Amino acid sequence: MISVEEALGILLANLPEKKVEQIAFQAALGRILAEDLLATRDTPPFNRSAVDGYAVRSEDIEHAPVDLRVVGESRAGGGMPDTLKPGEAISTMTGAPVPEGADTVQMVEFSRLSEDGRNVTILKPIKAHENIAPKGSEAKGGEVVLAAGHRIGPAEIAVMATFGFRHVQVYRRPTVAIIATGDELVELDENPRPDQIRNSNAYCLSGQLKYLDIDAHYLGIARDDREELRRSLLLGLERDVLIITGGVSMGEYDFVRDVFHELGLEILFSKVAIKPGKPTVFARRGERLVFGLPGNPISALVTFECFVRPVLGRLCGMKTPELPRMKGELLGNMKQSPGRTAFLPAWVFWENGGWKVEPLVWKSSGDIIGFTGANATFIFPKHRDSLSRGEIVEVMLLPDFFVRQR
Ligand code: AMP
Ligand code: MG
Repeated sequence: MISVEEALGILLANLPEKKVEQIAFQAALGRILAEDLLATRDTPPFNRSAVDGYAVRSEDIEHAPVDLRVVGESRAGGGMPDTLKPGEAISTMTGAPVPEGADTVQMVEFSRLSEDGRNVTILKPIKAHENIAPKGSEAKGGEVVLAAGHRIGPAEIAVMATFGFRHVQVYRRPTVAIIATGDELVELDENPRPDQIRNSNAYCLSGQLKYLDIDAHYLGIARDDREELRRSLLLGLERDVLIITGGVSMGEYDFVRDVFHELGLEILFSKVAIKPGKPTVFARRGERLVFGLPGNPISALVTFECFVRPVLGRLCGMKTPELPRMKGELLGNMKQSPGRTAFLPAWVFWENGGWKVEPLVWKSSGDIIGFTGANATFIFPKHRDSLSRGEIVEVMLLPDFFVRQR
């Protein structure tokens, strides 16, 4: 049985080429840039004043207080001002061009304007270059301001607006199909018989995809029937990635692997030393990737985060889409039979200068209720059979870690 790390290695070795698309810059929030964006002009495009005050020559006010003649005004958007000569001051607003000839801007707070407005007394000296953002100091025209691979947030949108990029090339998000399988499953609008349960995995996975900004194409429930599975899988294979849950275990009616074979899928792994989620299957057909996740709700949730997210995130252009990990102090005694790396639900919180890891009570990998309060999973190493209270354990933060509250 391969380890979680080996499984990840196989996943990453089988990624198809990322696809690129051009979209409106406002729509690019949360996407990954697929091209370098170069400054289309110097920025600032002129020597820009950072304050409201008077543009002057620093040498003229070395011995302040000094009187200077006010010869004009420079306001933002009011055209380029005249050149400043010795003995002169030009009233200059924040964001406005500093006139040629001036090398500094003294703040209005350190000045006194004469009654007639023709002269100004500068009350304090100021060094050359103060309060000025020089032309091209933020970027020179032609310089890379956003590199390919950069994630686009609000500041990046502002940079696109600054340089007039109406459209940008980003990585296309993969299309993802979801199929649920199992004769026992019914949808929400049906009343389950005593031997039936409602499908929850398809909706849980759709939510997990949503955190990656991917809308799932849900293809419904396929019965434990080869022909029905085959039809459903063929539909799913029209998408970049297909996720099917259930039917991958070793039961008499677990046909998913068989149908993968019949459809000519190349199975790259079909068992991983992970708990929960051992029977996870990964397969491909050409560029199409297929995940067979176990039907147990926690298994499906955990294997999605461990195996599906790293793949989908990379197809979206992310460099390290894996959920972040950190370490914290375990607040409980835990036991397991060794052999598989376990990802167990936990509540992680900061207290007394350190991260604490409270293991949550859950009854089995089917017990999705037991998982609902988790903001992380902690990792039970596969060679260990027990962990003691006070030990430092590794935790994998869940996608909503930073917004989830108790
Ligand atoms: P399987 O992987 O098909 O052997 O299913 C393992 C367990 O998960 C069984 O108890 C199933 O009833 C349950 N299960 C399978 N699919 C789903 C689903 N879509 N939603 C909720 N539970 C499921
Ligand atoms: Mg089943």
